[in-house]
Amino acid sequence: MPFEIEELNPVYAVNFAHRNKPFLIYKDKEKLAKEFDGLETDFAKKLSAYIGSAKKMFHDTENIVIRKNFKSKLDYLLQLTQVPLKHSPKMFRSMWTELDRTFTSEEAKVIFSLVAFFLGDTPFKTPAVYSLLNYTELEHDGYWNVKGGMYQITETIVDLLKKRNVRFHYNTEITNVEFSGNEIKHFTDNHNKNWTADLYVCNSDAAAFRGKILKREKFAPKKLDEMKWTLAPFTIYLGIKGKTESLIHHNYFLGSNFKDYADNIFTASTSPEKPYYYVNVSSKSNPASAPEGCENLFILCPVPDLRFKSDWSDSEQLADNIIDDLSKRINIDLKKNTLTRTILNPIDWEEKFNLYRGSGLGLAHGLSQVGGFRPSNKDEVFKNLYYVGASTTPGTGLPMVVISSKLVTERIQEEHGTV
Ligand SMILES: Cc1cc2nc3c(=O)[nH]c(=O)nc-3n(C[C@H](O)[C@H](O)[C@H](O)COP(=O)(O)OP(=O)(O)OC[C@H]3O[C@@H](n4cnc5c(N)ncnc54)[C@H](O)[C@@H]3O)c2cc1C
Repeated sequence: MPFEIEELNPVYAVNFAHRNKPFLIYKDKEKLAKEFDGLETDFAKKLSAYIGSAKKMFHDTENIVIRKNFKSKLDYLLQLTQVPLKHSPKMFRSMWTELDRTFTSEEAKVIFSLVAFFLGDTPFKTPAVYSLLNYTELEHDGYWNVKGGMYQITETIVDLLKKRNVRFHYNTEITNVEFSGNEIKHFTDNHNKNWTADLYVCNSDAAAFRGKILKREKFAPKKLDEMKWTLAPFTIYLGIKGKTESLIHHNYFLGSNFKDYADNIFTASTSPEKPYYYVNVSSKSNPASAPEGCENLFILCPVPDLRFKSDWSDSEQLADNIIDDLSKRINIDLKKNTLTRTILNPIDWEEKFNLYRGSGLGLAHGLSQVGGFRPSNKDEVFKNLYYVGASTTPGTGLPMVVISSKLVTERIQEEHGTV
């Protein structure tokens, strides 16, 4: 491996508003069970059954649904018939129902349901099949730190590609296309320069690009708005003086009205009054990320996308609200100790990366938007255009987009010979 990785232990911490001690989530099941002492009887046995079932689901579907190209919707549905029937009830009940059948304590249910938000919906609406993510984080993979910070991955890959004579052109946005029949002649960028190639792989959002640049009716704004999108990010970057002893690398801060909060967060038209948020302190694992005696905090609060809340003039206020809440909960006056502060709201995220309506992770993962029902990595019309990334197959998040790049490479090799 061209960069070093080290496993995080504990994996993450979950802080509830009603409890001053965080739950530390360990892969070691005995240690994890201790966190739930007095709260959940037979925790270890229950978790083992839950993860055991999620593990079977993962291994029975990984090569059929995730690591596979589909020629058509029918091809996908035929592949699905290979998934053992015993998993089908999990398609029809929610992740929350699955957790409710397993655990009695609200805390255990909430903690293991958090992964649903990464997929673009609440655990009350996300199908229980996605409990496989609990298996990936608590047993199969875990959470890893890239030594020196995760941007090392980008820098290493860029170096490797440069050695193979790959050329990079930065600050260039594709804004138009010229085609003839079923072939793209060239793309045009924002500086009016034409880009000609034998084959094109588009890493812009696979749904929005088809609408915005290719002007496809099926992906016009009205149609895109009817699709399900993942939550938009509201992010704060703080450089602070002093050390945050009570934080670890990954931390969640939750309130005490989980269902109400989850039910409203996707479609609210105002900023949350008592926000739920995630805090990453990468300087805990990578001391060089902050000057000595200081720490860098990245705070992510999932918020409604721009379809539901388009006015973000309250950004400073929302940031103050989150920072005040965090200050109280970790007992440090963050405002007084702030050295640098940067805020990005969904409008910034949309402008910087062409993220549709500011949705952070692209298209959501309901059953009608995965596999053969997700925008394909091969264009419907142009034979020399392919797609990679979050809104094409298999889906969103770093592990999935890496698989996406393998899938599109396989497809191109199959259809065009060696690239
Ligand atoms: C705040 C936040 C936190 C996240 N946290 C996690 C996490 O903890 N774990 C995880 O697995 N995932 C996480 N994700 C999701 C993950 O970052 C994405 O799923 C992943 O980066 C998507 O990769 P991609 O290649 O599809 O798109 P991107 O990484 O968005 O890359 C697409 C690139 O294409 C460029 N582009 C777009 N349109 C054009 C155009 N017309 N012309 C030229 N260039 C264009 C964009 O500027 C961008 O650089 C997070 C996302 C956000 C926003």
